[in-house]
Amino acid sequence: EDADEAWMDGQVEEVNGEDLVINCTNGKKATVNLSTAFPKDTESPRGGVEDMTRLAYLHEPGVLQNLKSRYALNEIYTYTGNILIAVNPFQRLPHLYNNHMMGIYKGAEFGELSPHPFAITDRAYRLMINDRISQAILVSGESGAGKTESTKSLMQYLAFMGGKAKAEGRSVQEQILESNPVLEAFGNAKTVRNNNSSRFGKFVEIQFDQYGKISGAAIRTYLLERSRVCQISDPERNYHCFYMLCASPPEDRDKFKVGEAKTFHYLNQSNCIDLNGFDDSKEYIETRRAMGIVGMSNDEQDAIFKVVAAILHLGNIEFGEGSEPDSSAPKDDKSKFHLKTAAELFMCDAKGLEESLCKRVMATRGESITKNLDAKGAALSRDALSRIVYSRLFDWLVNKINSSIGQDPDSKILIGVLDIYGFESFKTNSFEQFCINLTNEKLQQHFNQHVFKMEQEEYTKEEIDWSYIQFVDNQEILDLIEKKPGGIIALLDETCMLRNSTHETFAEKLYQKYKDNPHFSKPKFSRSDFTVHHYAGNVTYQTDLFLDKNIDYAVNEHQILLNASKCPFVSSLFPPVEEAAKNTKFTSIGSSFKQQLQSLLETLSATEPHYIRCIKPNNVLKPAIFENSNVLQQLRCGGVLEAIRISCLGYPTRRTFYEFVNRFGILHPKALSKGNTEITSTKMILEKANLVGYQIGKTKVFLRAGQMAELDALRTEVL
Ligand code: ADP
Ligand code: MG
Repeated sequence: EDADEAWMDGQVEEVNGEDLVINCTNGKKATVNLSTAFPKDTESPRGGVEDMTRLAYLHEPGVLQNLKSRYALNEIYTYTGNILIAVNPFQRLPHLYNNHMMGIYKGAEFGELSPHPFAITDRAYRLMINDRISQAILVSGESGAGKTESTKSLMQYLAFMGGKAKAEGRSVQEQILESNPVLEAFGNAKTVRNNNSSRFGKFVEIQFDQYGKISGAAIRTYLLERSRVCQISDPERNYHCFYMLCASPPEDRDKFKVGEAKTFHYLNQSNCIDLNGFDDSKEYIETRRAMGIVGMSNDEQDAIFKVVAAILHLGNIEFGEGSEPDSSAPKDDKSKFHLKTAAELFMCDAKGLEESLCKRVMATRGESITKNLDAKGAALSRDALSRIVYSRLFDWLVNKINSSIGQDPDSKILIGVLDIYGFESFKTNSFEQFCINLTNEKLQQHFNQHVFKMEQEEYTKEEIDWSYIQFVDNQEILDLIEKKPGGIIALLDETCMLRNSTHETFAEKLYQKYKDNPHFSKPKFSRSDFTVHHYAGNVTYQTDLFLDKNIDYAVNEHQILLNASKCPFVSSLFPPVEEAAKNTKFTSIGSSFKQQLQSLLETLSATEPHYIRCIKPNNVLKPAIFENSNVLQQLRCGGVLEAIRISCLGYPTRRTFYEFVNRFGILHPKALSKGNTEITSTKMILEKANLVGYQIGKTKVFLRAGQMAELDALRTEVL
């Protein structure tokens, strides 16, 4: 074991008691304790094996070595049983995804061809057709690992298999595929981790008719990152659509009153304006084409980009002191100009816009008083307006796409595809990470339950006993976060509803309530951070912005202003709020997200799941670099090692009797005598080797962890 390399490959030169002296393949010499070294499978082919469960030894270094040697040959896909592991190639490999390839995978037996997302999809499709059970394909991995790219190839394959020729208009499958560029324009951005990072989670439900043809689809999205609209840090970018708009043809720039991207505050906070390999003006045309395909009229598209432009102008309004004490007003002529332009684009009253930003109406006990906001308060109000408008715009796009693709009410079978952010643990972790990690806890529970069930089914099929396998569960961590009442989310909501509460009072409540919870701790030198012991590791959250980020409402002034817009599109984004709804407490992002997750998991539990785990082999986003410890960490977080561990609790090594006799017949040549069946020979060999605890199934022998190694050792002696 090595700090950088995680695991090193080598050959034992000397044994001194518990210590091994090892000649490493990379030329180093190392002395390690016996307990930290693992035997290597010398029988595996040099290029690795397509399915890791075929490795004689299922341990971390074996798994890592296998992925690495395959990656070096551009074999980016590998199975671990039913799970597909995809290592991001960071280079286009078009030959893997063309029509010819789809034709090859169509109808091929699973496992017959090289591992591929098409194979997973083909299996899901056929299970759906044959068993009439809905399927789900869950794609996970950290940012930049290749989830969205994998999702796109799955959807491409489904369109290929289930596409219907349509006489007129756009086919459903075409609309499903074209929804991707639209959602990416408005929901993706360059981040440090990925130049085209999706800043929302997505579940696409593709509905099929009784003939197995695509008949409808529904897209659900989760937690768009709102803060990005107003705040970006170098070298990241805002959402792609802003830059596209600024790079649109001159007549469009006139129409939308925009200039160069670098003149807008929301974009020029970062030095990154142009994105390598991304032509914003071409993307603008491309996005509008796709918007047309998913059913947005030219007028609607114009209205959408007007709103995008208005947000840019809002961002350029700076505030200074107003005429009264502690009041504010646009700072200078430039700010006044941007305010006027934003109002024109929103088609609302300029004076009204200014007041909605610089004043706040406070309602107390039936009375309402208008209070001036100072310059800082006005700037906060401005940003809140930009964020709420953008998030309503995004929701509108998703709804529009759904209604134009259309749902098939008669569909009884569907395939869901989930593309959602993986576990995150950064230097500072805020409310977003908290929600994202909750998602991953829930999906992990689902995953464990499934892997566990599959194991049991395999054992049942082979009629062997499995009663001793213990199930590991993360329910306690889920309770800590989402139990109602008493969980962290419930506590956060409570705190948000109280006047005068701060993130410090919130943290204090957490410390008191969970001081004995084994999955919670308070970092030593902090007054408001807290640590959750997630299945994938400990994450310390900074509570500073938890309260603000949890509250979800449009400021009343903004609501009234935009509801009154003369542009029907803008006003539809802010439908009137019913009096009754106004008085009910407040809606919180945390709770509604929790509910969304609940309903996602209900959908998933009615499906047969298939898993794709994406791995990002390096952080420089370049081909051919495979960083061991980095990959290992992801295998741990993604539950791949956990799946392996669960299977190690049982009988991780399975061999058909034929394979077993072939490899170990040499241990007991007599067992091979003519009259013996393979099963008899297998039993005789195992008895001779003095092994206990293994089981004989109907077609395979099931070995306990480590038994393969014992047999191999015996075999080496004989050889
Ligand atoms: P994620 O959705 O997991 O954040 P993406 O799917 O956006 O990651 O992938 C990040 C980048 O990695 C892509 O923009 C692309 O350049 C590259 N990439 C990922 N998967 C593949 C693939 N299968 N073939 C080629 N390039 C890929
Ligand atoms: Mg993505």
